[in-house]
Amino acid sequence: FSVENIRNFSIIAHVDHGKSTLADRLLELTGTIDKTKNNKQVLDKLQVERERGITVKAQTASLFYNCEGKQYLLNLIDTPGHVDFSYEVSRSLSACQGVLLVVDANEGIQAQTVANFFLAFEAQLSIIPVINKVDLKNADPERVEKQIEKVFDIPSDECIKISAKLGTNVERVLQAVIERIPPPKVHRKNPFKALVFDSTFDQYRGVIANVALFDGVVSKGDKIVSAHTKKTYEVNEVGVLNPNEQPAHKLYAGQVGYLIAGMKDVTEAQIGDTLYLHKQPVEPLPGFKSAKPMVFAGMYPIDQSEYNNLKSAVEKLTINDSSVTVHRDSSLALGAGWRLGFLGLLHMEVFNQRLEQEYNASVILTTPTVPYKAVLSSAKLIKEYREKEITIINPAQFPDKSKVTEYLEPVVLGTIITPDEYTGKVMMLCQARRAVQKNMMYIDQNRVMLKYLFPLNEIVVDFYDSLKSLSSGYASFDYEDAGYQTAELVKMDILLNGNPVEELVTIVHKDKAHSVGKAICERLKDSLPRQLFEIAIQAAVGSKIIARETVKAYRKNVLAKCYGGDITRKMKLLKRQAEGKKKLRKIGNIEVPKDAFIKVLKTQ
Ligand code: GDP
Ligand code: MG
Repeated sequence: FSVENIRNFSIIAHVDHGKSTLADRLLELTGTIDKTKNNKQVLDKLQVERERGITVKAQTASLFYNCEGKQYLLNLIDTPGHVDFSYEVSRSLSACQGVLLVVDANEGIQAQTVANFFLAFEAQLSIIPVINKVDLKNADPERVEKQIEKVFDIPSDECIKISAKLGTNVERVLQAVIERIPPPKVHRKNPFKALVFDSTFDQYRGVIANVALFDGVVSKGDKIVSAHTKKTYEVNEVGVLNPNEQPAHKLYAGQVGYLIAGMKDVTEAQIGDTLYLHKQPVEPLPGFKSAKPMVFAGMYPIDQSEYNNLKSAVEKLTINDSSVTVHRDSSLALGAGWRLGFLGLLHMEVFNQRLEQEYNASVILTTPTVPYKAVLSSAKLIKEYREKEITIINPAQFPDKSKVTEYLEPVVLGTIITPDEYTGKVMMLCQARRAVQKNMMYIDQNRVMLKYLFPLNEIVVDFYDSLKSLSSGYASFDYEDAGYQTAELVKMDILLNGNPVEELVTIVHKDKAHSVGKAICERLKDSLPRQLFEIAIQAAVGSKIIARETVKAYRKNVLAKCYGGDITRKMKLLKRQAEGKKKLRKIGNIEVPKDAFIKVLKTQ
């Protein structure tokens, strides 16, 4: 293929606007997959994607397309829509020269449409607006055209109106890809240079790197070097994704494909790395900004004997999902584990589900917390911590007020798009979450786009659900990192008969301490078994008690169930009780089953 006949593009959109369905039709139209079968989101290969009906992982497919007698090679990347996976989108865009920006003809522009548009716009890609689902009864493509013109400044005659479900007008999309997206700017005569924009781990073949070739040619047997590690590898296999791996003799500049070269672990397989030929070094590509975790949570094996298996599962999964950060951690109740950083709660849930489904590992995840900061007050402390501003990803390590001049909390700039009948309710919700309004704009006669600066911890847990329910599902939300602001934070301890429980330490804004403390005490009350004495559950900030619950005493007698005689049954019961005790943690003289921690931590 000459470079002039190659097009590399991504499909981007808000969740559920039809990216993966459009990808199905493009695969069928180009004969990449069989049309006779009932193809549904073929590129959503992971079990978690099929179960949840969402794309979490960008997927590449190479298509061959004949247009006016010329044969074209189209490399398509289907991307996720949810904000938690926008890192997948931005990486995919680095391998592309254009995008299909898909917008639902009924819902119109939504918050992630705006976010994804700007990712493509900043990367200076050609943007083809595609209005999808014109078959829907309530479809109003003309209105969506006007929104696109108003918000993105794209002339409405550039919009292509399609039904991805029925296949209507999809051929026009392929023609637009060829006409409006430029071929990649690459040089085949230069030495080989490729960007690793994604990677997956295969149990038998090691790391499979997804590469975009900027210059030169690579074939099986070549010796290549990683610019990141400077290690040399021999290429075992190259090929294209069709959409399944299909080995090829060579990959040429302008192509997007995969490469296997015996890389075995996460330190070798850096996403954003540049590969070049041994003895033919090149200027490395700029790579990617590393993902910035928004929430942190502790992760522990359910059983400590599973620690090593879990460790290897986490390492392999982080090759495929490089946006997860990993630090070792340990807890008195839960043993050795890690503190993981995620881009959001959905990301955390998906990571957990993938560990279970793809690696058969089961874990305990603790309450998520956002990365707070503290500015230390004395030179001595700065020396001790080796920096002036420390980041706290584990609430147990929250430094006391006497040690700091101020605390800082992460903030994000949120975009909300809502029908204007809900604007009042949305504003009240934002206010209750300590948000500050920054902007408001009508995107058509009755839809409003609002911008708010939110403290991150106010939106990570249940903001999205609240927004959806107060707007009958019509409002959408997206956010981007906006740095830090000063915040009056306090550390809240949970006490059992006066003894603090390390696992349940929480950092909260001082105005929210009471309501959060009350909720934790109530949950703990429901999950603590009664004991021989009364237990006071208290939430405390410093020496001040802000919430309290009581678990009444209960005389536990395992032998009560045995009606006299049966001695073997008694022995069995006593033995089982002894085993049960091993799974307990003693706080003061109170026995807390591991299970109780899990219940409190999980549902917070
Ligand atoms: P994605 O999240 O953007 O990848 O969206 P999907 O491709 O998974 O589609 C989301 C839902 O919209 C699915 O239930 C599709 O069947 C449906 N859908 C996609 N395109 C169309 C269309 O053109 N018309 C109609 N009526 N439904 C569509
Ligand atoms: Mg999808």
